[in-house]
Amino acid sequence: MTGSPFTTEHDDLRARVRHWVDEELLPHVDEWEAADLFPDEVFHRAGELGFLGLSVPVEDGGQGWDYWATVVFLEEISRASGSIAMGLGVQTDMCTPQIRQFGTAEQIEQYLKPAYRGEKIGSVGITEPDVGSDVASIRTHAKPTADGWVINGSKMYITNGVRADWVTMVVRTAEQDRSAPSAGMSLFLVDTDLPGFSVSKKLDKLGMRSSDTALLFLDDVHLPADALLGTEHEGFKQLMWGLQGERLAGGLLALGGAQMMFDQLLEDAGVRAGAGTGSLRSQRLRDRIAELATDLEANRRLIYDCCDKWNQGVYARTEIAMVKLAAAQLASKIADESMQLQAGNGHRAGDARESAWRDARLHRIGGGSDEVQRQVISRMMGL
Ligand SMILES: Cc1cc2nc3c(=O)[nH]c(=O)nc-3n(C[C@H](O)[C@H](O)[C@H](O)COP(=O)(O)OP(=O)(O)OC[C@H]3O[C@@H](n4cnc5c(N)ncnc54)[C@H](O)[C@@H]3O)c2cc1C
Repeated sequence: MTGSPFTTEHDDLRARVRHWVDEELLPHVDEWEAADLFPDEVFHRAGELGFLGLSVPVEDGGQGWDYWATVVFLEEISRASGSIAMGLGVQTDMCTPQIRQFGTAEQIEQYLKPAYRGEKIGSVGITEPDVGSDVASIRTHAKPTADGWVINGSKMYITNGVRADWVTMVVRTAEQDRSAPSAGMSLFLVDTDLPGFSVSKKLDKLGMRSSDTALLFLDDVHLPADALLGTEHEGFKQLMWGLQGERLAGGLLALGGAQMMFDQLLEDAGVRAGAGTGSLRSQRLRDRIAELATDLEANRRLIYDCCDKWNQGVYARTEIAMVKLAAAQLASKIADESMQLQAGNGHRAGDARESAWRDARLHRIGGGSDEVQRQVISRMMGL
């Protein structure tokens, strides 16, 4: 890719998102982290400002931009906090794309459009208390009834799960067949106000503290027939289709977090040096900053190349896995290096540096762990 992919319109969009982050989010982030929840109003306001569904056609309730607008949004929102970026990222790129791709006109009206307006909050339910990476082994199941389905089971670590209006959920609709373990699953849109649906626990976490994460319980939850999303028993394939976009967005959020920590490091280095300590003017610091800048640039080129392909409708699975793996590792590396370089100051509690360090670690776990990405890459290489 040669030249910048961003037009002056993208630059204007970036300025608008940045203004929102600076004026309405950053002043409250510490308070929301301490309270373990950022308010629902953040979703509503993002919708009101036209920042949700940026790359989605207008007829589906989106803003009709190309994918670079999503890149702008995810990069800028990462400057607010990892938690806010993750909550909004789930809304825009994780629980909604399957509805646009596989949903009926009614489902688009009922879920997708209100989600992009910021009126409904969504979540995605894959992980279970005993099943994470090995999605084919999920146990939550739906049985057909005369007029729909009845679901039983539970879902674990669900982002936005405490406040969500619905969950885009993968469940088993046929017994697992050992010769085709991923067959017999289906996607459903599960309203959270149905009898039998409960948030059995809001989970405490190391990082992403102001993003709510829930353990959900489904006890004989009756769903209407039209809650099925897409084709019965094709849920795994539909989920995997959605996971590509989720992982690319996850890579962008990790890179956004890495850039935010790097900018903070530069600022801190400047402030300390200006204050006359002298230590941060050392060659050692300059060397480390130069290395991190190189890592960031290499990472950005890889991820932008993937975004360019995505923008043209090419789902580059191997590169997306590489991007997710590399960006997640870089976020952790920069978080750790920043602390190391600032030593005692870096280890102090109670400010954005601390939460950024804690938040960075999740990128190597959520949306497919490092190990899972390595497996995808090696498999695609034919190893
Ligand atoms: C804050 C947070 C938010 C989350 N949000 C959501 C959400 O919104 N929706 C949702 O569905 N899930 C969500 N998750 C769950 C997340 O996607 C899982 O934690 C992740 O997929 C790993 O699953 P697991 O925790 O069960 O670990 P496991 O799958 O049990 O893995 C344990 C370890 O084994 C490794 N491993 C597993 N399989 C293999 C393999 N085949 N080869 C090599 N190594 C392997 C893993 O990499 C890991 O190191 C969230 C998790 C967290 C912490």
